[in-house]
Amino acid sequence: MDGIPLLFKYTVPDKLYEKFWEGLKRGEIYTTKCKKCGTLYYPPRKDCEKCMSSDMEWVKLSNEGILMTYSVVKQKPQGFENYSDYTVGIARNSDGANLMCWVKGEAKVGKKVRLTTDGQRVICEVIE
Ligand SMILES: [Zn+2]
Repeated sequence: MDGIPLLFKYTVPDKLYEKFWEGLKRGEIYTTKCKKCGTLYYPPRKDCEKCMSSDMEWVKLSNEGILMTYSVVKQKPQGFENYSDYTVGIARNSDGANLMCWVKGEAKVGKKVRLTTDGQRVICEVIE
């Protein structure tokens, strides 16, 4: 049976996460941390699920990390059909946050990575 392409459109609440999106444009990754209990969230959140506080602050994440896992995308999702095969992964940065990222360089679990952005998404560059 053939698949039927579906198109989903959704709106990201720009104002709430403006600092995150603005950071990506400058190569910086921001997230939120609970001021009451200190829990760090990534991606950023408006409220803390641990202590139910809404008193959050923005923090800049470290750009040092380790590649935890990755996958080479050969069957691209809608909107990415024209991309060459690419690699996505999860990197754990030195603050303890797990970041989904596009991997540049030769992916290998356990490798050190430098976390940066391409202006709109998180990139992790494998450090040789
Ligand atoms: Zn909290």
